[in-house]
Amino acid sequence: MPTNNALQCAQHGDAFVTYVCKHLVDQPRQRWYCDYPSEDNRWPDAWCQQCDEAFQKEGEWNEKNENATDIKIICNSCYEERLASSLEFLEQDVLQAWNAVVTDCHEELCAKQDALETLFSLSKHKRWDYDQSTGLLTFSNNGIPAVIADVEFIGSYSTVSETWLWSWSNFHLLENVRTRIKAVREYGEHRAFPRLTIPKWPADEVHGWEVSAVATHVLSAKGVYRAPTENGFLFMAIMEVGRSS
Ligand SMILES: [Zn+2]
Ligand SMILES: [Zn+2]
Repeated sequence: MPTNNALQCAQHGDAFVTYVCKHLVDQPRQRWYCDYPSEDNRWPDAWCQQCDEAFQKEGEWNEKNENATDIKIICNSCYEERLASSLEFLEQDVLQAWNAVVTDCHEELCAKQDALETLFSLSKHKRWDYDQSTGLLTFSNNGIPAVIADVEFIGSYSTVSETWLWSWSNFHLLENVRTRIKAVREYGEHRAFPRLTIPKWPADEVHGWEVSAVATHVLSAKGVYRAPTENGFLFMAIMEVGRSS
């Protein structure tokens, strides 16, 4: 990134510039109006509902409405922390609906995991390897492939930062393992479930299983494989699976 996008944050040190309306800085626990992150724009400009009404009147920011909002510069870590805290803004009925979805999807996933183990004994093979370029997860014994799965990366749980990160906002991953997962984000947007639409949020490992269960349901996947990583776990949806012939 160019150096004019850099700033020094009192809390986070060297960081990148992001633009957020004053209301979100003062009270982040409300709905954020912003695009999803992309590789070129990791922290898209964000504003609140009140500012969005001014934006919608013109359909863009221009000289007629730009004075209606007070845009602040904050660092990218401050942005992520504030956006994650908007998770806590959840109406009671949405919270109940979310809990019901998690319970149903968890049950569904348990049955799918049992079926996978019965059919393919995934836990019994000597090693596993995944290849992002092919999107294949291979289970093998003594160099001989036994089971091959087509996988989509769901997200990762970091035991270091204790956060969940959706694969659709993890730009270190190759695109072909993080494309189908956007359907889960769309489902989350439709149901107003922030855990499915906020890129990164404070979590424990149970949260990782919860959102992976929902992802498995939305993607009609066969189950989940959780792989250990250097600093936590990577959750993959098994889309198709078969024995190597
Ligand atoms: Zn605002
Ligand atoms: Zn900061």
